[in-house]
Amino acid sequence: MNLNQRQKRFNALQKEMRACRACLQAGYFVQPPAITKGRLSAKIMTIGQAPGITEVEAGRPFNAGSGKRLFQWLGKAGIDEDWFRSTQYMTAVTKCFPGKGKNGSGDRVPSRTEQDLCRHFLDEELKLVNPKLIIPIGRLAIERFLGAERTLEELIGTEEEREGLWIVPLPHPSGASRWHQIAENRERIDAAVELIARRYRQLFPKRASIKR
Ligand code: SF4
Repeated sequence: MNLNQRQKRFNALQKEMRACRACLQAGYFVQPPAITKGRLSAKIMTIGQAPGITEVEAGRPFNAGSGKRLFQWLGKAGIDEDWFRSTQYMTAVTKCFPGKGKNGSGDRVPSRTEQDLCRHFLDEELKLVNPKLIIPIGRLAIERFLGAERTLEELIGTEEEREGLWIVPLPHPSGASRWHQIAENRERIDAAVELIARRYRQLFPKRASIKR
């Protein structure tokens, strides 16, 4: 596929994701449309669990408190939020808001069936964008790339390389999560941010060298 064909397929995929109602048709409560954002030319891709209600209202991933904390972490790696949002790619394991969880704290975790229904979209996003650095954010996205065997404590602050693709996981930045508020885990996040900074400098050496 040449660049022109890839761009056309990318544009069509964005429309297909926004029009998708597969989970509703399978009987699950979700609130479409799919929330993803970014460019085909992105080298860095963030992958969260699923958008929240504020993401649906704003029409962009990682809005509000989660986004603020995420971009505080990425900011420490030298990454500017406006630049990142307008040039890189942000998506999720499932693309539609899944509603609130039963206990009222935080959003419902998408079921295995919903993850399977949405999987082909993420597979194609990865194939078309072909990022060099993936940042899976939160347990669900991390399991998609790094398996379910290891704990967050074991994984955050580490990276994996697979044939030129780097994977650096981050915990979910939601205020509903206590994980990132624990002192030892903040050190793990600092280590992850340093790994992201290193890959960012490799991928965007000119941009990373500009003092801000
Ligand atoms: S979560 Fe994915 S599969 Fe389910 S309706 Fe939204 S886009 Fe379609």
